[in-house]
Amino acid sequence: MPAEILGGISALKSAFDIARTLKDMDDTAKRNAAIIDLQQTILDAQAAQQEALKKAEALEGRVKELENWEAERQEYTRYPAAPGLFTYAHTQESCGEVGTFPQLCPSCFHHRHKSFLNTEDWNPGRCEVLVCRDCGWHAYVVGSAEPEHQKLAPRPYRGN
Ligand SMILES: [Zn+2]
Repeated sequence: MPAEILGGISALKSAFDIARTLKDMDDTAKRNAAIIDLQQTILDAQAAQQEALKKAEALEGRVKELENWEAERQEYTRYPAAPGLFTYAHTQESCGEVGTFPQLCPSCFHHRHKSFLNTEDWNPGRCEVLVCRDCGWHAYVVGSAEPEHQKLAPRPYRGN
C-alpha cells in the first residue's frame, strides 16, 4: 500500500482517537488544544489523500501510455535486414521489396520509441550501413567496420 494512503489512514485513526477523548474533557484549555490537534490531523489526512490521488492519476497516465504503445507495437514485426541483423518494419509494408518501406531502429523500438533508419554508404570499403540518427545505433548490411568510419558514426541526440 502506498505511503500516502497509509499516512492518510493513520491520520484519520488519530483524528478519531482525539475526537473520542474530546467528549470526556472538562478542562476548556485542554479541550481547545485537542480541537486544534484534531484540525491539524484532519488537514494532514486531506493532504495525504491529495498526494495519493495525484500519484494514482500519474500511474493511470503511465498505464494508458504503455497500453497505447503495446497496441502500436503489435503493428510491427522483426524484419531480417541482413543475416543476424534485425530491425522493425510495419507488418503490412515489410512484404514489399527491400528499400521500398521504412525500417525502424531496434534499439529505439525496445525503448518504446519509433525512429526511422537511414541507409548510408560509408567509405572506405563501400559499406552499406543502417543508421539511427536518434540513438546512434548503426549496423553494417554490406561490408565491415573500418577505423575511418568512426568519423561517420552518428552522434546520438536522444539518450536511451
Ligand atoms: Zn535508435
